[in-house]
Amino acid sequence: MQTTISPDVTIRETVDQHPGAERVFAAHGLPCAGCHVSTHETIRQGAGAHRLDLDALLADLNRFVADGTVPPPRERPAAHPPGPQKRELKAGIKHVVAIMSGKGGVGKSLVTGLLAVALQRQGLRVGILDADITGPSMARLFGVSARPYQGADGKPHPPASKSGIAIMSMNLLTDKETDAVIWRGPMVSRAIQQFYADLEWGELDYLLIDLPPGTSDAPLTVLQALPVSGVVLVSTPQGLATMIVSKAIKLVQQLHAPILGIVENMSYYRDPESGRRFDLFGPSKGVSLVVESGAPLLAELPIDSSLTALCDEGRIEEYHSADYDALAANFQNVSAKI
Ligand code: ADP
Repeated sequence: MQTTISPDVTIRETVDQHPGAERVFAAHGLPCAGCHVSTHETIRQGAGAHRLDLDALLADLNRFVADGTVPPPRERPAAHPPGPQKRELKAGIKHVVAIMSGKGGVGKSLVTGLLAVALQRQGLRVGILDADITGPSMARLFGVSARPYQGADGKPHPPASKSGIAIMSMNLLTDKETDAVIWRGPMVSRAIQQFYADLEWGELDYLLIDLPPGTSDAPLTVLQALPVSGVVLVSTPQGLATMIVSKAIKLVQQLHAPILGIVENMSYYRDPESGRRFDLFGPSKGVSLVVESGAPLLAELPIDSSLTALCDEGRIEEYHSADYDALAANFQNVSAKI
């Protein structure tokens, strides 16, 4: 008479009745057939807890009972989706680095732009993908207005800034800079993926992705769908900004992306006359973010009123500051390890 194994008997009972059946459980990723849990866990519960295919497991157990066949080990779904850093980079791009903040207005876009400028000055090839689809600012910062163009290879290429930084931003596709892009999350996510995948970025040492603030669809898309090698978090000493950047740290950690470092922007103001430092937003919170993230503080950047005019006039590449050279050097040090 043929025995049919019920999903509601315990794993231990099954193995006791059919010695060798533990190898069938193991092939399905249930090596606990011999452990204590199996004495009270049914086959159905075990399959549910380990996200196994119950029907396939029962079919294999019944086959084992009938003719002794032990199936080969099955491919198991990963407990977590693969980390973004595991995805394949586009040919020609060495590192994709996302620049993220919790809160808007902390200077993330400005830091992204000036980091790109400083890296470019050090002889590296840099591109910027502005993933802030509904509030883009990169084209304005660099004074770029040309649309993506078709190269000799027939592929669309992002336009380049005066110093040769490849830039793609939603503002380069709208008729007017002030045209609103009123899109829901999935469309935003698709646009970001297309900017990355469909454009021919060429040879780049770094593709910096300027993320919109927060932990919504766009940051998730970038961290889950693009091959991000690491994330730089930008904050300010203001308590509110620090609190919200903590949420961003948690998101990045949950998605298993390496945090390359923290940049504290608007850290202080230095009076050009007296040289005195004023902590306008309170004392630095950089150290507490370092402790929380386990990543180094890459820079404490001052407030510099001369930046405002340069940004508004699209002349960010004319800005020179030793602070950003130091940021670029620290950034290169940490990214060399990824
Ligand atoms: P975010 O991308 O975080 O929303 P932005 O980069 O757009 O922030 O910066 C917000 C505003 O603050 C911009 O007008 C920018 O020029 C200004 N800003 C940012 N950082 C500094 C700084 N260190 N010194 C002076 N102005 C700054």
